[in-house]
Amino acid sequence: MAARMTDQNDPTSAEPAARPFEAEVSRLLHMMVHSVYANTDVFLRELISNGADACEKLRTMALDDPDLDLGDAPFQIRLVPDKEAATLTIEDNGVGMDRAELIDNLGTIARSGTRAFLEGVSDDKAGAQLIGQFGVGFYSAFMVAHEVEVVSRRVGSDEAWRWHSDGAGQYETASVAVEDAPARGTRVTLSLKPDAAAYATPEAIERIVAAHSAHVPVPIVMAVGGGLADKTLTDGSALWRKAKADVTPEEYTEFYHHVSGQFDEPALTVHMRAEGRQEFSALVFVPSLKPFDLFDPDRKGRVKLYVRRVFITDEADVLPGWLRFVRGVIDSEDLPLNISREMLQTNPLLASIGGAVTTRILADLKKLAGSDAEAFAKVWEAFGPVLKEGLYEDTTRRDALYEIARFRTTAGDDWRSLKDYVEAMRPNQTAIYYALGDDREAIAASPHLEGFAQRGIEVLLLADPVDAFWVRTAMGFDGKPFHSVTQGTADLDAVPLAEGAEGGEDDTTPDSAVATLAARFKQTLGDRVGDVRLSKRLATSAVCLVAPEAGPDRQLEKMLARAGQASGAVAPVLEINPGSELIRALAAKAVAGGETELLDDAAVVLLGEARILDGETPADPADYATRIGRLLTRALG
Ligand code: ADP
Ligand code: MG
Repeated sequence: MAARMTDQNDPTSAEPAARPFEAEVSRLLHMMVHSVYANTDVFLRELISNGADACEKLRTMALDDPDLDLGDAPFQIRLVPDKEAATLTIEDNGVGMDRAELIDNLGTIARSGTRAFLEGVSDDKAGAQLIGQFGVGFYSAFMVAHEVEVVSRRVGSDEAWRWHSDGAGQYETASVAVEDAPARGTRVTLSLKPDAAAYATPEAIERIVAAHSAHVPVPIVMAVGGGLADKTLTDGSALWRKAKADVTPEEYTEFYHHVSGQFDEPALTVHMRAEGRQEFSALVFVPSLKPFDLFDPDRKGRVKLYVRRVFITDEADVLPGWLRFVRGVIDSEDLPLNISREMLQTNPLLASIGGAVTTRILADLKKLAGSDAEAFAKVWEAFGPVLKEGLYEDTTRRDALYEIARFRTTAGDDWRSLKDYVEAMRPNQTAIYYALGDDREAIAASPHLEGFAQRGIEVLLLADPVDAFWVRTAMGFDGKPFHSVTQGTADLDAVPLAEGAEGGEDDTTPDSAVATLAARFKQTLGDRVGDVRLSKRLATSAVCLVAPEAGPDRQLEKMLARAGQASGAVAPVLEINPGSELIRALAAKAVAGGETELLDDAAVVLLGEARILDGETPADPADYATRIGRLLTRALG
């Protein structure tokens, strides 16, 4: 941006100036030009969408500014195919752009989604294939045009500007006479590539508009008879105000594409109309494809708010942050048209509309989960981690979210609901057990789960970063508390062993000897551990680390530390397995007395081992190595 401070690049200067595209734009253009995506038609809906956005933006501005003279001409988008010249022109009478806006909007990447898309695709070939699904806005014009000219006049300005590029690295801006520009708004002229010449024919334009832009809420006309007359292609009526029975699935999909800028099939379509205390229509969609910026820190939703068919804003956060992947339109009958941004954030009417739509989305998701488990699983795979944010952000929705939440568990590869879990609880099992970690396989392999496996107790494997947050405040489901497998004492004795599991009992070395060993270890390890205890949760492994009853879960603690929220580290409890041969042999030595060095080495090495099993390193690797060396030497004897 610093470049703009030099004279030649001063946005207020009338001098023509060439400047390079931002690096990301160049990369995007490169993909576009070499796009292997077969359906180049998509460029038109992008440019029509921009024209419609510009009209809606101006309509909104006029609400706030009564002095703004919009004249009598209705808002519209006009398409002019010119076969002779091999050009296609898309003109709108919307808000228009001044020079600085042309530079900012058409020289850089403004959309966080597009930016995230570029970061997400490593090689350009894969990216080019995805472009068609994600929609990348204005720059898609270069899929079909070898040159693009944009002439624009911002509303209320007495200047007009021209932007021009061949898509190869740079673009120019220059002043143009107002007579050569639209009276207001923007005219985009595409000089079509030879293999895209068909886009200069009325037949192609009519076909594409009918297929992709039939429900854009601004009328679209096409010049016919050499530009002497206009033919109306669409009337700009609001699809969301129609009765459900009058809308086809194809129309819903097309509208979803328009409103979301994403080109997948919606996984769920919610079309509702409320009458009574507040009147509104909502037409919202759950995408099937995960947008690249789903975890963008600002977590913006992008549902468009209308008031009596007039677009107000797409930044109102009508729906909660944990539904930010939902796209669509909410149109209120009751809000004032001139409602300000600030008031929107606190408006009770809007909050109650948002609440009603949220309830409906959750109910429809639940219905989908019941009627088509496979389709719902896809939704959960894409958006489950976001929906789970609702579990701690929105306690009033917690029960509804518990009902649709799905989990990976130790019970197999299928998604499991909490209801499934509770139904499969073992006799005398009182809690819902979970294990936190970075990935499912690693968690499932952790020694903490051994005792649970031995008793056939299912454990939820929680591997999403968000899991660490909601389990902290989770109250329980169906009267059963959530309990971490790595926290406190595992009270598993009451639950019978599963069929085929060995008892692992051995009465040659009594538990009292193991208790002696535990005390001996605690003496060696001192403050490094809060305690050394006999384990109930281990079956085969010798040791593991757990959090003390009152302390936070160990995985949770680690995740918090990574998120920069260091909690005062609590010394973990080392659990030793009385059923382990190694532990029993060491216990025998502890009871017999002597062997100080061996028992000290064993204590430190086993603590290190427990840390390694948790994905950490021994606290003092050099000391750990020395002791291992000593033990090996001894064994070689
Ligand atoms: P998006 O529409 O998602 O923001 P685009 O790449 O399609 O992304 O457009 C980038 C920006 O350029 C728009 O946000 C808008 O500010 C500006 N723009 C594009 N076309 C027009 C137009 N016809 N009128 C006014 N502004 C436009
Ligand atoms: Mg756009």
